[in-house]
Amino acid sequence: MSDVKKLAVIGAGTMGSGIALVAASRGIDVALIDVSEEQLSKASSYHAKTMDRNVKKERMTREEADTALSRIGCHTDMSDASDADWVVEAATENADLKKKIFKRMNEVFGDGVVLATNTSSISITDLATAVPDAADRVIGMHFFNPVPIMKLVEVINGRGTSEETTRRTIELSEAMGKVPVPANDHAGFVSNRVLMPMINEAFHAWSDGVAEPENIDSIMVLGCAFPMGPLRLADHIGLDVCRDIMLVMHRGLGDDKYLPAPKLVELVEEGRLGNKTGHGVYDHS
Ligand code: NAD
Repeated sequence: MSDVKKLAVIGAGTMGSGIALVAASRGIDVALIDVSEEQLSKASSYHAKTMDRNVKKERMTREEADTALSRIGCHTDMSDASDADWVVEAATENADLKKKIFKRMNEVFGDGVVLATNTSSISITDLATAVPDAADRVIGMHFFNPVPIMKLVEVINGRGTSEETTRRTIELSEAMGKVPVPANDHAGFVSNRVLMPMINEAFHAWSDGVAEPENIDSIMVLGCAFPMGPLRLADHIGLDVCRDIMLVMHRGLGDDKYLPAPKLVELVEEGRLGNKTGHGVYDHS
């Protein structure tokens, strides 16, 4: 049982919008915050469409869907969510930006509010240096994409995280229908330390002419029993997010094997970010 009544989610992109929807579906009030009005409105249409589909597939009644949707409020100013009793930061994967957001979170939210981050790869201890007086309340709460479907929450303690914060994070993850699994605080944690180099290698294989993307993906699906090939998965994750995670691991682990593949960087620079922009490795338009 979690005592969290209102969750603030910072960042309304792929992950923040999913976290907000899952929390609201589980009876938690949500304040979804983004600097971009456009992202907030995209998140709202994603919420409405997902709930319409759930009703159509008889996973919930119209009334349940509408109640969940009514629990989500969208804001561009974090201070509009100051009555939340838990925050999950899910903004762009950039340590400097996240530290700025953490400082602001510490100003806006009161003592006792957990400051969680959905970072894929940045050290929790490093992020906590932005809020030295609140380091006991900083924790990694790493959801997976798509949040409504994926069961895992990787739970990462920073050096200063208190046992109470960890216990409450496990309780909240379970209350959201997820399975929390601990990992230690190394760049990329477990999930991306293992997954991202494989995705990156798929980009190298493509640019080396080993096979076209469809065939790289088919080979990994049919030959390795992956539910989805690495390049299609990269489109789901966001190619910018994949590049940023590789850069964080390169910096944090100090090995050039973590440099993002030139083909991945090239697509990001062309604005081909994957599903979210309609075009990445594949055309999703
Ligand atoms: P995204 O690019 O879809 O969304 C990021 C959002 O953050 C954007 O809407 C942007 O406007 C917003 N933002 C930027 N600065 C902000 C600020 N100062 N205040 C409020 N909002 C701000 O990215 P995403 O894929 O949702 O990733 C978000 C986080 O989740 C990253 O740390 C990423 O590593 C992590 N993550 C991503 C995935 C994935 O599959 N995409 C999976 C797990 C974790």
